[in-house]
Amino acid sequence: MPPHAGGRQGGQRVKLLVTGGAGYIGSIVTRMLLDAGHEVVVLDDLRTGHRVALAPDAEFVHGQVHDAARVLTPDAGFDGVLHFAALIAAGESMVRPELYWANNTVGSLALLDAVRAAGVPRMVFSSTAAVYGNPVELPIRETAVTAPTNPYGSTKLAVDLALTSESTAHGLAAVSLRYFNVAGAYLRDGVALGERHDPETHLIPIALEVAAGRREKLQIFGDDYPTSDGTCIRDYIHVEDLARAHLLALDAATPGEHRVFNLGNGSGFTNRQVVDVVREVTGHPLPVETAPRREGDPAALVASADLARTELGWTPAKPTLTDMVTDAWDFYRTQILERP
Ligand code: UDP
Repeated sequence: MPPHAGGRQGGQRVKLLVTGGAGYIGSIVTRMLLDAGHEVVVLDDLRTGHRVALAPDAEFVHGQVHDAARVLTPDAGFDGVLHFAALIAAGESMVRPELYWANNTVGSLALLDAVRAAGVPRMVFSSTAAVYGNPVELPIRETAVTAPTNPYGSTKLAVDLALTSESTAHGLAAVSLRYFNVAGAYLRDGVALGERHDPETHLIPIALEVAAGRREKLQIFGDDYPTSDGTCIRDYIHVEDLARAHLLALDAATPGEHRVFNLGNGSGFTNRQVVDVVREVTGHPLPVETAPRREGDPAALVASADLARTELGWTPAKPTLTDMVTDAWDFYRTQILERP
C-alpha cells in the first residue's frame, strides 16, 4: 500500500491538523472546519499567530511545523493536514531570505515527512500568487510560467514542487491553493477573526492604521510601474471566500494527484484605487506619499480562478473590495482599536 493510502468516505467527520491555526487565514478555516463537524488540532508556535484567535473547541498544540511528527503520529488517526504556518511578507523576504527558506521550505518538508510517515492521505497547502513573478499574460492561469521575483514566492514554489513529487511517488492527495491578495475578516455568531500582524506590512491593514490615527500617512511603494496610475495592481479576495475554498479543496483532493488552484476575483486594483476605497469606507482623508519601489514587487497580479469555479464549485460571496474593506475596518475598530 502507498504511504498515503486510506482516507475518509465523503462528508463524514474527520480529524484534521491545521498548522498556523492561530493566524489570520488558518484561524478562520479552523472555525469553518469545526462548524462543518470536523475534529481539529491546531499546531502553531504563536510567533506570528495569536492565542486569542485559537478556536476554543479545537485542540491546541504549541509548536513548530518542524516538529509536526510529534503530533502526526501514525496512530493519531489524522485524515488530512491544512498547512498555513509560514512567513508571509514578500518585502521582508528580500532582506531576510534565510528566515523564509528555514520556515517555509524546510518546515514544510519536515511536515511532509511526518505526513508520509503517519500515512496521512490528504494535504491542502497555502501557496501564493507570488510564485508567478511578473506574469507574461493577465489574468494568470495555473499553467502560467512560475518565476518568483522574491524569496517568499520561491520558498512557496519549492513546496509546491515537493507536493507534486510526493503525490506522484507516494500517492498523497495534495492541493495547493494559490492565494492572491487576501482581505476582510470573519465576523459572525459572536466570533471575530481578522488580520493582526505586528508589525503590519500589508496595504489594506496599514491604510486602516492610518484611518484609525495610529499612523500619520501611508507610503505607496512606487508610482512608475507600467499600470494606469503607475502603482502596482493586485487582485483582492475576501478571507471568507478564500477559507471556504479550503473545505472544497479537501473534498476534491485525489490520491496520487497534486491539484493547483488560483484564488482571486479576476479584477485588478491599483494601490491608489485601494486607497480610494479605504477612504470611502472609513471617511478618513488618508494622506499618502510616494516612496521608492519595494524590491521584489511584481507590477501586476490578477487571477483567473476559472479552474476553482469549475473544478471545486467555488463561488465568491463577497467579491467587492468595498465588502472586504468594510469587514476589515469593522474588525479593526471592534477588535484592535477598542480592545488594545
Ligand atoms: N504597499 C504599499 N505600501 C505599504 C504596503 C504595501 O504601497 O505600506 C504595496 C506593495 O508594494 C504592493 C501592494 O501594496 O504593491 C500590495 O502589497 P502587500 O504587501 O499588501 O501584499 P503582496 O502583494 O506583497 O502580497
